[in-house]
Amino acid sequence: MDYSVVIPLYNERDSLAPLHAELSRVMQRLGRVYELVFVDDGSTDGSIEALRQIKSADKNVRVISLARNSGQTAALACGFAHAIGDVVIAMDGDGQNDPADIPRLLAKLDEGYDLASGWRTERWQAERYTRRLPSMAANSLISAMTGVKLHDYGCTFKAYRRELARSLQLYGEMHRFVPAIAAEKGARIAEVEVGFRPRRAGTSKYGLWRIVRTLLDLITVKFLSGYSTAPIQVFGLIGIVLGGLGGLWTFVLVLEKILLGRELGNRPALLLAVLLVVVGVQFVSIGLLGEMLARTYHESQGKPIYVIKEEF
Ligand code: UDP
Ligand code: MG
Repeated sequence: MDYSVVIPLYNERDSLAPLHAELSRVMQRLGRVYELVFVDDGSTDGSIEALRQIKSADKNVRVISLARNSGQTAALACGFAHAIGDVVIAMDGDGQNDPADIPRLLAKLDEGYDLASGWRTERWQAERYTRRLPSMAANSLISAMTGVKLHDYGCTFKAYRRELARSLQLYGEMHRFVPAIAAEKGARIAEVEVGFRPRRAGTSKYGLWRIVRTLLDLITVKFLSGYSTAPIQVFGLIGIVLGGLGGLWTFVLVLEKILLGRELGNRPALLLAVLLVVVGVQFVSIGLLGEMLARTYHESQGKPIYVIKEEF
């Protein structure tokens, strides 16, 4: 199998047939063996019937139906786990991505990249500012925090080498951080300008909540990529700084009491100083707990703390 197209979808009934027709035309023109893997993420609008019909007329189609709505990331991960093509292409099921861009994504992989990530240059005209502004902020923030600079983190339209797609372990809403996670594994990443179309049917599955959820996942990704094997380095450092500050301050306060005879009990500063000491101790303890968890995590799964590229 040369190509697998993975399409997570949730309540996209009316987009599926047009998408399938368009996609088939593009894939057939490539003249290779391909499969279209539709992952139905527990739709309740009859998407599954639409897929049954599509499947009955096209043997290149595979449909995987999840037992309940598990989120776009989970549906994508399921598709990756079941795709058998050497190259895996992911795209949305709502028809907003243009299948005609697929050959250009594939061309990037032929140039030697491991991941070709879509960059929706026309998105700005197509969408309202409530989506544009958060997305702009998210792209710069994620780029800065992860050190992997991309214009469009939100775009799920991507082509992967299969080994890369398989090796990604995605949780939460982490499909947005795929390039950062892939870079962590040493993947070479290219960005390819792709089209973007307004939705013709169905509704968006995300509201403003995604901002908060993305921020939380960003913290996780940043932490896991930088410090998951040395949590004491993060928490311990914070703990030592805060605790040290508190200890010093308490010391000064006590000195003032003893040497200058200043009243100690009625000074709010004492509360803060003691609080700093307590918090500092807690941070160090969390760091130590984290160290133990990191060992359990890596050792129980035989997961090394490095990624080998090749061996001679
Ligand atoms: N999706 C999914 N499970 C969910 C939410 C979304 O599989 O719980 C799919 C959805 O059907 C679509 C893709 O993820 O194919 C992107 O979702 P959407 O178009 O709503 O996001 P937007 O384009 O508005 O950012
Ligand atoms: Mg969409």
